[in-house]
Amino acid sequence: MIRYQIGSRSPTAHYFDLLIEIATPNLDGQVLRLPNWLPGSYLIRDFSRHLLDLQAQTHDRTLAIEQLDKSSWQLEPCDTAISVRYRVYAKDLSVRGAHLDHSHGYFNGSCVFLEVVGQGEQPCEVLIEKPDPEFAQSWQLATSLPRRTEAQQQPSQADDFGVHLAQDYDDLIDHPVEMGHFTRIGFEACGVPHEIILSGRFDCDEARLAQDLQRICEHHIRFFGEPAPMDYYQFQVRVVGEGYGGLEHRASTSLIARRDSLPQKGVAAVDDDYRDFLGLCSHEYFHTWNVKRIKPAAYQPYDLRHEVYTELLWAFEGITSYYDDLALIRCGLIEQSSYLELLAQTVTRVQRGLGRTRQTAAESSFNCWTKFYQQDENAANAIVSYYAKGCLIALCIDLKLRAVTQGAKSLDDVMRCLWLSYREEGGGVNDGDIERIVNQLADQDLNPFLHQLIHATSELPLVELLATVGVDAQPRAAAHSRDRGGKNITEDLPKVDFAAGLKDEVGGLKVLRLAESGSAQLAGLAAGDSIIAVDGLRLNLPQFEKKQLRANVGDRWRVHAFRRDELEVFEVELQAVAQTTYFLRPDNAKNEQRRVWLQQDARAAD
Ligand code: ZN
Repeated sequence: MIRYQIGSRSPTAHYFDLLIEIATPNLDGQVLRLPNWLPGSYLIRDFSRHLLDLQAQTHDRTLAIEQLDKSSWQLEPCDTAISVRYRVYAKDLSVRGAHLDHSHGYFNGSCVFLEVVGQGEQPCEVLIEKPDPEFAQSWQLATSLPRRTEAQQQPSQADDFGVHLAQDYDDLIDHPVEMGHFTRIGFEACGVPHEIILSGRFDCDEARLAQDLQRICEHHIRFFGEPAPMDYYQFQVRVVGEGYGGLEHRASTSLIARRDSLPQKGVAAVDDDYRDFLGLCSHEYFHTWNVKRIKPAAYQPYDLRHEVYTELLWAFEGITSYYDDLALIRCGLIEQSSYLELLAQTVTRVQRGLGRTRQTAAESSFNCWTKFYQQDENAANAIVSYYAKGCLIALCIDLKLRAVTQGAKSLDDVMRCLWLSYREEGGGVNDGDIERIVNQLADQDLNPFLHQLIHATSELPLVELLATVGVDAQPRAAAHSRDRGGKNITEDLPKVDFAAGLKDEVGGLKVLRLAESGSAQLAGLAAGDSIIAVDGLRLNLPQFEKKQLRANVGDRWRVHAFRRDELEVFEVELQAVAQTTYFLRPDNAKNEQRRVWLQQDARAAD
């Protein structure tokens, strides 16, 4: 048993104070190591840069410490129990970090708990203390780590700080902890207690939120089959003015959500903001199976010292992205038109970028560390998202399986096969495993089709496959810079495209990014330029878009822009707008196939 203790004497300095008690250290000199990344977020984050004041002691002496690399340390050999103390600076409010101030505390174990190398399999106890200052005395604690004193499946009843248990180090760092003042909302899904922890300032319809999340959770549990793989689950939601994101864990998820995306009291409709929030919750909850348990073989176990490569993120993020919104219609939270709008937005995201012609979904997965997670202004030209393209690959596999088996099999069966195989054999998913399952279910060789989806940059067969469920995919021009696609807009569509992402700034417009070989780039404009005049006039973004709406192909604009502090003039010849914004509409054919695919009515009544 390794004993950890975390508290804070000075939250306003943003320090967590850590203590580790190692009863039987390695006699050659115990090594301690902090992860350099955390599962679910594929970027080297070097959490050790926030670690300070490291000391180690036995009952009667201080041990010498030798640093081995950026995130590991070796203690002087000794044969008695050791206490290790250190502090961690916590000022990252993202779901991937640790944060502590006068208002609340939050941490991912990966940011704060040193691993006792060689003893990672041992069970751990962690005493989570209330921070010292007066203002923290009324704080509560929320985590999916079970309390030592309670029955293991009832951490929800322990509102207090105290000793929690983890099966091993891997478990210890997979339960983020929130402390402060928050609202707890409980519900059951298929007999499993769930809680929503809402922190930050908000005003929302809490009963509605619980009711809607319950439907999503029950849908996912039944999708993979009861019983659920966890005996308790927690949605930790940090409510902010602006922000969005989530990170999956084995029995919880940490989310950042906009205040406006929570359900408003007295409003029954699911507006676009709330739909996004429900989709995010659905996404992270689906991960409880797909990536937290069914996972790439390369992640078994996670090597948190350096990058771990897999070509399979398209399946773990893409299939999850496919089912997150599909679950919303399947459990009756949104209508068909709303679902098709979301799907069309994903089609639009992929089709708008030239990156889809350069990078395959497998390559996007493999290079996530340096490309997807480190996007710059050229990203849309250079890479494709394994989330968005992965979602469309999942759609293609689903519709193809339904078509070739006359509706007898679908991607749902692929996921259940993967789940069954995980439960029966454990082990991870290797390259080619998903293709093998699809071929078995189809009872034919679909390898050329699957290879084209996953390992090629050719266009996806979306139009043909959507037609098999009576959905017509139509491209059009983007109406304006906020147009994400999904809606059938026929009026006020521009004929030309300046082909640059712009935002308002004092005195004009900032160029954020440019489409490769688009009008603005061919004229010489670059990301970072500040446009101060077009044809001699200063414009804000709405005025710029109005001007673009009136322009014709071949028109020339004289653009004055600062590059750094040097004024430049560019002659921009406007090219025709690309038809890469999509909307989807049911075409009144194949109504039965579409109904079965979306499972409308079938599950809503549950
Ligand atoms: Zn995800």
